[in-house]
Amino acid sequence: GAAMAKSKFEYVRDFEADDTCLAHCWVVVRLDGRNFHRFAEKHNFSKPNDSRALHLMTRCAQTVMEELEDIVIAYGQSDEYSFVFKRKSNWFKRRASKFMTHVASQFASSYVFYWRDYFEDQPLLYPPGFDGRVIVYPSNKTLKDYLSWRQADCHINNLYNTVFWALIQQSGLTPVQAQARLQGTLAADKNEILFSEFNINYNNEPMMYRKGTVLIWQKVDEVMTKEIKLPAEMEGKKMAVTRTRTKPVPLHCDIIGDAFWKEHPEILD
Ligand code: ATP
Ligand code: ATP
Ligand code: MG
Ligand code: MG
Ligand code: MG
Ligand code: MG
Ligand code: MG
Repeated sequence: GAAMAKSKFEYVRDFEADDTCLAHCWVVVRLDGRNFHRFAEKHNFSKPNDSRALHLMTRCAQTVMEELEDIVIAYGQSDEYSFVFKRKSNWFKRRASKFMTHVASQFASSYVFYWRDYFEDQPLLYPPGFDGRVIVYPSNKTLKDYLSWRQADCHINNLYNTVFWALIQQSGLTPVQAQARLQGTLAADKNEILFSEFNINYNNEPMMYRKGTVLIWQKVDEVMTKEIKLPAEMEGKKMAVTRTRTKPVPLHCDIIGDAFWKEHPEILD
């Protein structure tokens, strides 16, 4: 209340550390699921990729983009999502702790809130958590390299996991045996095992698994049914109305090459 506003206790506020993110830099918040190796096991995630879990992650990321200010692009894979705030954002005076905690709490509450929409017959057994970190990138190059790094990580892990789980699920190897089999193999070796032993062409695996998910703002035509108010004789009648909304739309494309950035120059404006 007002009486507390200028009390003798007010000085303790000065103990708060200044965590302002450097002006004009890209601010990235990356979240990662806490102990999701166990969470995936307990909730019977399919291996190597549970598409329900990936779609739920993306639903949460869309909620974060819609509810919070100034996020221009997000990238997700596995149990992680990165959110990029625009260079000139002045949201919460660019305080890192505000960016990070708002993203993490909105994401985590959404994960629980939307769980049932994706895991219809799999109950949520305990409340999941996410860690967050803030990274500040001074140039378009470092930001693009950051996103490339996450997508390269997605590729490396997914190639490994695809072979690892094929060896277990189709060849009956134990996890220890599968790991030993893959020890020291290069990407080409893994592609070769997939092709010769399992008749899998890695390039034909789903894009969402190989590339992860990019969320960018795009105009979408939405058809909604609207109740007509007047005139009285038409009361209760419904009509289809199309309107254009800007929404965070998921893409499963390459973001390492130049093509994506040339196609969407507005992101780095
Ligand atoms: P901000 O996002 O800046 O925190 P805020 O609306 O949450 O905005 P606060 O200063 O955090 O602002 O104040 C929280 C407000 O929430 C209170 O002013 C009060 O109106 C409401 N509120 C919180 N808890 C209760 C409660 N238990 N009973 C009634 N009202 C509450
Ligand atoms: P930490 O708390 O350190 O992040 P972690 O167990 O979450 O520990 P990560 O390196 O983040 O470790 O790995 C996440 C793990 O979650 C993956 O190894 C995988 O087992 C599991 N996982 C996450 N998403 C999926 C998914 N969509 N399908 C299958 N498994 C998944
Ligand atoms: Mg308060
Ligand atoms: Mg980790
Ligand atoms: Mg994790
Ligand atoms: Mg992870
Ligand atoms: Mg409040």
